[in-house]
Amino acid sequence: MSPAARAAPRQRVIAAPPPTLCLDFVNTRYWRGRSAPTETLVDVASLAGWLQGAVDAQAAAGLKVLARSDAGAARRLFDTALEWRESLHGLLRAIVDASPLRATEVEAFGRMLHATPARHDPVLQPEPAGWRVTMHRLDVAELLAPVLWSAADLALGSARARLRCCANEACGWLFLDDSKAGTRRWCSMSACGNRAKARRHGLRQRERARADPAAAAARPPRQPRSEAPDGDAAAVPFRAPRRSGRSRSGP
Ligand SMILES: [Zn+2]
Repeated sequence: MSPAARAAPRQRVIAAPPPTLCLDFVNTRYWRGRSAPTETLVDVASLAGWLQGAVDAQAAAGLKVLARSDAGAARRLFDTALEWRESLHGLLRAIVDASPLRATEVEAFGRMLHATPARHDPVLQPEPAGWRVTMHRLDVAELLAPVLWSAADLALGSARARLRCCANEACGWLFLDDSKAGTRRWCSMSACGNRAKARRHGLRQRERARADPAAAAARPPRQPRSEAPDGDAAAVPFRAPRRSGRSRSGP
């Protein structure tokens, strides 16, 4: 066991996570509908960077300390974190699709949650408020505890009804529908909505051209503004849509 993992039990106050934190985590891999999805968590350092921005500085610092003292343990922790991410993604995607959850998925989720520190000691004052937890070791359950809590709160709460997957099948971005009508279809209009509009526009033009070739030849081609030239998402750098990740500093 590494020196960091042997550290004596210590207490931390972790802010209550928003339900979108788990979505930020699973969306660290995107273009999931493509043969080669984009992976942003490629090593221990990138996971530490994500934790720093989306969870808190203490979690990131803990992982960096482990990486310095025991690179192999940090790498194993990283590999497990990605396994847990994919497990969470499968669960959340099944909720979006209203698919029956497999017993193995439910059990895996339960095991992950069970491994996180217990949330039974709320700290209301002084600020920042949060859950006081006792950490016994540096492991993936400690690092990802807020992500797991967020997923549980989302899966069991009212926000579950607003969980969506981007209508662009190649994208696969998960988000909470914040529209009044509850009809948001895209991760963002700029990332995917406009591409779909461009594709529909091109399709209509081609149908018109087939129906009336002479008229189509006389009309100059027109592209909707701000859209990919051929609807090919790969041609346009992905811009992360509205993100809810936020920097929070621990006590
Ligand atoms: Zn999208």
